[in-house]
Amino acid sequence: MAPQYREPMSKATPADARAAPRSAKPRASAKRARLPRSRLTKAEIETVFERFQARLPEPKGELEYVNPYTLLVAVVLSAQATDAGVNKATRALFAVADTPAKMVALGEARLVDCIRTIGLFRNKAKNVIALSRILAEEFGGEVPRDREALERLPGVGRKTANVVLNTAFGEPVIAVDTHLFRVSNRTGLAPGKDPAEVEQVLERVVPDRFKRHAHHWLILHGRYVCKARKPDCPVCPIADICRYTAKTGPAGALPVGAAGPAVTA
Ligand code: SF4
Repeated sequence: MAPQYREPMSKATPADARAAPRSAKPRASAKRARLPRSRLTKAEIETVFERFQARLPEPKGELEYVNPYTLLVAVVLSAQATDAGVNKATRALFAVADTPAKMVALGEARLVDCIRTIGLFRNKAKNVIALSRILAEEFGGEVPRDREALERLPGVGRKTANVVLNTAFGEPVIAVDTHLFRVSNRTGLAPGKDPAEVEQVLERVVPDRFKRHAHHWLILHGRYVCKARKPDCPVCPIADICRYTAKTGPAGALPVGAAGPAVTA
């Protein structure tokens, strides 16, 4: 599977209760004590990730890229767009512009021509040229392995920075997109009112040995099994642990029992 990241367009069902609001930076440690608790026990959380790992030891995304810079560009372009649509445009784009200097040389007008099939292409083209110029002039053409530096780039927010840090540099950070937000709340793994809160809960409850791949396991689970409109609960590998009360089944909704004990990691 080729690498991929995106902000999916699918909407949560009413049962999901809350759609992912705009991301915000997590607050400092003073807020930690008030974070929601996982509804899964420590042993259950271990089991969830052990099962994901057993099924897919080295999970990958589906956005195509050839280096950290093209990964960054692909993630910026993927907001409110499909992976397939981004990949279709970037194959030709990255063949001629796979470094910040080459992208600046390509210019905004030609970049627009390359990505006009992607939503919000004009604004994204401005951001890609602007961030490429900064990388070329201030970072020697390299993508910084630094969250603050990444988040200062045009069009780059916390989620994009996390994806780059995790995928390009192997940092054990968890980018929370719509899929992770939905899965974390549905299952009870990491309840939260917004992506920032879910990220903080995941950071607290996901065992260190699973953090590097947690983003990809959860995003793939959300994309192909725990889907927004109708989750495939009958084939779900963690159905016996998940706390979702409206699981789907061959004979319709199958309510599950009461939630288990809460834990603080
Ligand atoms: S049992 Fe259903 S709702 Fe729970 S994680 Fe699996 S697919 Fe999602």
